[in-house]
Amino acid sequence: MFDRNGNDNSTYNVDNIEFIKKTSPVVGGLIEKEYNRQKNNVELIASENYCSEAVLAANGSCLCWKYAEGYPGKPMERHSGNKGRYYGGTQFIDQIEEYCCDKWREVFHTDYHVNVQPHSGSQANFAAYKAICDPGDVVLSLSLDNGGHLTHGSAVNFSGKLYDIHFYDVDEKGFIDMEDVRKKAHELQPKVILTGASAYSRIIDFKAFAEIAQEVGAYFMVDMAHIAGLVAAGEHPSPFGYADIITTTTHKTLRGPRGGLIFAKPELAKKVDSAVFPYAQGGPLEHIIAAKAIAAEEALKPEFKEYAHQVVLNCKALCDEFLKMGYHIVTGGTDNHVFLLDLKEFPFSGRDLQERCDAVGITLNKNAVPGDQRSPMQTSGVRIGTAPMTTRGYKEDDFRQVARRIDGVIKELKAEKEAEAKEEK
Ligand SMILES: *Cc1c(COP(=O)(O)O)cnc(C)c1O
Repeated sequence: MFDRNGNDNSTYNVDNIEFIKKTSPVVGGLIEKEYNRQKNNVELIASENYCSEAVLAANGSCLCWKYAEGYPGKPMERHSGNKGRYYGGTQFIDQIEEYCCDKWREVFHTDYHVNVQPHSGSQANFAAYKAICDPGDVVLSLSLDNGGHLTHGSAVNFSGKLYDIHFYDVDEKGFIDMEDVRKKAHELQPKVILTGASAYSRIIDFKAFAEIAQEVGAYFMVDMAHIAGLVAAGEHPSPFGYADIITTTTHKTLRGPRGGLIFAKPELAKKVDSAVFPYAQGGPLEHIIAAKAIAAEEALKPEFKEYAHQVVLNCKALCDEFLKMGYHIVTGGTDNHVFLLDLKEFPFSGRDLQERCDAVGITLNKNAVPGDQRSPMQTSGVRIGTAPMTTRGYKEDDFRQVARRIDGVIKELKAEKEAEAKEEK
């Protein structure tokens, strides 16, 4: 694991890179460069994190060699009717996968059914939709420009092509507009109401969503990909008990391997399982499932609660420092691990700032802000998250310093753009 100063106090990665370089100098050499980039940069991408070495090791274990299409047996104990595997030799794989399911239910204090096979968050969503609606059905969700995810109905994504997606809005300040959700739900009578976001800095009111879904007889789906770690630690209200189906990634605030999970009310178990396999996927990534199980064990530890609490404290400190310097933050602040810096009034784009930050070793990403006039390739904002650097030991003061460094970059950029504009006149 990298520490705050860019030291690696493990040897796991380094040894592996040397080993890979013996076979492939090209790939090994590039991994080494990426390793050094990660080590030395301040990582502020809200969807990223550093998993533990044990998670990383399981990721690279012999389970990578095993095929296990299907599900562990024991139908009496599981909600799933899809029992059994299509291959022999799965007795240990079965135990790992069942253990993984049990641990994730423990993390979220739930008796929902869980499927741990989705290869990613997008794939979890692909299967979740399939379990609760059919092509052409109406889905009400939050659009990409207002903080939603690509898989919540973007025109270029399967979700936008397969389903009749309509969007609820955020208000002028950037908060999800629950009145708009209710109004559109009654008007459109959707099959599914979906919430969850990739760039939304406020608490999501799952109870209010569930009530609206109930009023119109819609399924209520939550995609907690970004906030799942905060939900696990009690830093964000839980959707369990409210939502019919819940998807997440495991690699964002949850700090596990890259992958997805689907939770569902028991009556949806069979539909969810057959939507993942054989509909959406073939053989599960059992090495990743083992890594997910370890991540769940880690999420149950007191240290994880401390980490998640610190993520939120750090985010507030960083956000407050920007506000103190006079910047605009979408919604005026943050309740979680992320916020959007609004650059609409500046003579440069989110992309310009992203590139300039990259050049000084600060990694963040451009992001559209509500009411953005610039193109998605430029945008008028950047998204900033505190989870990865919190994992590396950053505290509030470190993040205040980060804010001042970014302020320095912004001032430089602004001065340059203004000088350029003068020359052109
Ligand atoms: C990241 C994210 C996903 C997709 O995850 P991938 O693993 O990149 O496919 C889905 N939904 C939300 C809200 C996300 O933020």
